[in-house]
Amino acid sequence: MKNILIAGGLPQDCLQLMDQHFNLFRMDQADDKDAFLAKHATEIDGVSGGAIGAELMDKLPNLKIIANFGVGYDNIDVAAAKARNIIVTNTPNRLNAAVAELTLGLMIALARRIPKNHEMVRNGHWPSVKRAPLTGQLAGAKLGILGLGRIGKAIAKRAEACDMDISYFGRTDQHNLYRYFDDLTQMASHVNWLVIIAPGGAETDKLVNADVIDALGPEGFLVNIARGSIVDEAALIAALEQGKLGGAALDVFENEPHVPDTLRNLPNVVLSPHAGSATHVTRQQMGAQVVDNLIAYFDTGQPLDPVT
Ligand code: NAP
Repeated sequence: MKNILIAGGLPQDCLQLMDQHFNLFRMDQADDKDAFLAKHATEIDGVSGGAIGAELMDKLPNLKIIANFGVGYDNIDVAAAKARNIIVTNTPNRLNAAVAELTLGLMIALARRIPKNHEMVRNGHWPSVKRAPLTGQLAGAKLGILGLGRIGKAIAKRAEACDMDISYFGRTDQHNLYRYFDDLTQMASHVNWLVIIAPGGAETDKLVNADVIDALGPEGFLVNIARGSIVDEAALIAALEQGKLGGAALDVFENEPHVPDTLRNLPNVVLSPHAGSATHVTRQQMGAQVVDNLIAYFDTGQPLDPVT
């Protein structure tokens, strides 16, 4: 049996499945991680769980594969892995529906003031308010998607069902049904809603800056379901405070799980604790996909979902 180092948190069902196929080395549970590594480093064939940098790779002379739990792999130093001929895998596709579903849920919650109305009814204020305040709606609104990839397409499909008019921005024109913008600020000034679903990392760091947020404008809404690093969070908070942006729905944050007090106290936001893929079915499937990648790699030399 091959030996897998568990470097960070993984769901219990993923660990149980992995345990049926591999010897697990639970560094995540070790009090003295350095001592644990010093003892076991040469035995380790693969790693899974948590953030993996070059420093850890260098301590594992026989490491061949890093199997990431998640489609986003900005927690792994992929360049360092490549330089050391270590394969990295991720878990694409199986989480598309769950993430897209939460995106639409957040959009509807923000547009139709669901959390605010819920609080009003719950706190007994309905009799004094009498009628629910009027709100915007998704139907007929323009949606711009930053990153029309696997999840972006699943979001577009659901937004189509809500009668939204869809555009997208990315590095390539996909020549599909939707309108392509090669300039993010231009797209932001064209749309009412900007949904961010591109990868994190250096290339997209603060791509959504003050100019993009200003272009979206006081009637515009920003939804980030991708990575906190993609948005200039200080600029976002300033725009929300000053009424330069209509509202925001956020599943991800710059320094999560810590969310700035100002952001938490704003009235025009809906906040979610990085829950995009957090359904029982999806997380179970992602765990199985991690294990399938390890099995395929050790059996055939070819993982199912290599990060290229
Ligand atoms: P994907 O299929 O690779 O799609 C990524 C999209 O982003 C592509 O359309 C790509 O288009 C675009 N893109 C990549 N780099 C870009 C850049 N530098 N500038 C502009 N656009 C860029 O990925 P996916 O499976 O849809 O996942 C997207 C991301 O969602 C993940 O990386 C992860 O961070 C995030 N995510 C979040 C949650 C959550 O719980 N909130 C869950 C799952 C995933 P071009 O190549 O044409 O630029």
